[in-house]
Amino acid sequence: MPDNMRVGHGYDIHRLVKGRRLVLGGVEIEHTHGLAGHSDADVLMHAVIDALLGAAALGDIGEYFPDTNPAFKDADSSKLLQHVIDELHRKGWKPAQVDCTIIAERPKLGPVKARIRNHLAEVMCLDISEVNVKAKTAEGLGPVGQCEAIEAVALAVIVELQGS
Ligand code: MG
Repeated sequence: MPDNMRVGHGYDIHRLVKGRRLVLGGVEIEHTHGLAGHSDADVLMHAVIDALLGAAALGDIGEYFPDTNPAFKDADSSKLLQHVIDELHRKGWKPAQVDCTIIAERPKLGPVKARIRNHLAEVMCLDISEVNVKAKTAEGLGPVGQCEAIEAVALAVIVELQGS
């Protein structure tokens, strides 16, 4: 791999519960259940954040936003992503591409994939052609397939910040 680019991988899972908002990739989605967590529990944002931190070899999301810190209670994960991108900039990197997959039995995410993709591109200052969002089910298998949780995985490419 060239010196001026790095690749990172991210994974997250959150439990689906009643009485919580469902936020995926910064987009609020109408559903009977939402994701449980200390922040807004945006499982996709968290996977993207870990992919970026991984690419820059900067550890993981728990080191930056511990769930014991009341400052991050119900935090907007789009803002956490912005914070991580600022940290990347300080280290001389910027996001270049992200590809991610949400695994959810319900709700059907086809209709909202484009909104999530647009939001991610906006927050990451990427062209829409540099962001991809995929959605799939777990075919009824395991906790995701039984609608007890939603999972997300992400791959991010970062490049050297020009002029840094
Ligand atoms: Mg998480």
